[in-house]
Amino acid sequence: LPVVAIVGRPNVGKSALVNRILGRREAVVEDTPGVTRDRVTYKAEWMDRRFTLVDTGGWEPDARGIDRSVAAQAEVAIDLSDVVLFVVDAMVGATATDEHVVRLLRKANKPVFLVANKIDDARQEPEAAALWNLGLDQPWPVSAIHGRGVADLLDEVVKVMPDVSAVAKAEVGGPRRVAILGRPNVGKSSLLNKAAGEERVVVNELAGTTRDPVDEVVELGGKLWRFVDTAGIRRRVHLQQGADFYASLRTSAALEKAEVAIVVIDVTQPISVQDLNIIDLVLESGRALVIAYNKWDRLNDDDMDGQDRRRYLEREIEQDLAHVAWAPRVNISARTGRHLDKLVPALETALESWDQRIPTGKFNAFLTELIAEHPHPLRGGKQPRILFGTQASTRPPTFVLFTTGFLDPGYRRFIQRRLRELYGFEGSPIVINMRVRE
Ligand code: GDP
Repeated sequence: LPVVAIVGRPNVGKSALVNRILGRREAVVEDTPGVTRDRVTYKAEWMDRRFTLVDTGGWEPDARGIDRSVAAQAEVAIDLSDVVLFVVDAMVGATATDEHVVRLLRKANKPVFLVANKIDDARQEPEAAALWNLGLDQPWPVSAIHGRGVADLLDEVVKVMPDVSAVAKAEVGGPRRVAILGRPNVGKSSLLNKAAGEERVVVNELAGTTRDPVDEVVELGGKLWRFVDTAGIRRRVHLQQGADFYASLRTSAALEKAEVAIVVIDVTQPISVQDLNIIDLVLESGRALVIAYNKWDRLNDDDMDGQDRRRYLEREIEQDLAHVAWAPRVNISARTGRHLDKLVPALETALESWDQRIPTGKFNAFLTELIAEHPHPLRGGKQPRILFGTQASTRPPTFVLFTTGFLDPGYRRFIQRRLRELYGFEGSPIVINMRVRE
């Protein structure tokens, strides 16, 4: 989907605008395992055009850090989005920070909308007009709180959004899209360099197919692969506060463009909350997943009790990563090149699973057998029944169950486990949604 990012100083009304654009969202029961953190991306829709809305305002700095963090926000947004909405508080006017952001935005080759917020009625519109000075073209007067002007803005935004279907069409049969993710220093860029060798092609606006000049196309195992958002791997936003927030923003953005993620974990370090959060983001995105345990060579170093560390590592994996035990695992060394040849089969397996479809007849036979063998536990004397099921989509495999009541999460996990036992789905998340007919 096209990505629209919202950028601006604290308190200009970014969150209000996000809420306004999302409108009231239909409640759907989704089974996304392990999701703990606050969202930074949302699915949005306007005039039948679907897009991803990125809220860069999820982390607000204290007064001292504003300049840097807003700049970082803008930088991330420019990298990852197709369209930027730059929000200014029209009642305050442009500040030095705003002007700084404008300089960054003007260098970017992306459509930018200058949103003049807090124009609650027509009498305030001259305040918006004053923002012509910023040199970003026409200011769009809106009131995020009351909704005034937002529809007009969105009408224009969807006009300049890239045509999803054109992008999709151009990419059918093209290289599959991979994101390399992981916390700083786990070896992401080393992995990319080693895997790519000299063969790398930095994709710079390849004839109409690319949306982003920071992808690299690499030949691995006799096939081309598109590594997305590699600028994000190399460039580091040096920030004290909020660094985690921006890192997760980048991760989400890369996932938007990818089909499969390689999450890199440093085996010399204990598995951390950050590692788990990154995996959560992959699960939430519904992308296929491969886990690469890197720096395996270090376990033989003298300064490290490799034997001991290996034992701990296995225990950590068992405890903390049990929920993604279905992801192919490769033990690699980006430095020596050890087992890098195993990455390609792992990616291929994960993508096959991600594309896998179970015919409706087969799936219902599976459900019938499963229910006979292990019915849903009684709840308050009643038993929710599964009437019928179907695989609604692939990428990731998404199943819809028509039921007479909500199924317990434990029972849905049981269904997932059984699906994996029978059909594999190695490397792909499985989503189970319910439609309850009471
Ligand atoms: P990134 O921040 O995830 O991109 O990490 P880098 O690729 O910059 O690597 C961080 C540090 O770890 C660098 O000093 C690398 O040389 C080192 N490193 C990366 N992979 C390996 C590996 O497989 N073995 C060893 N011993 N060091 C590695």
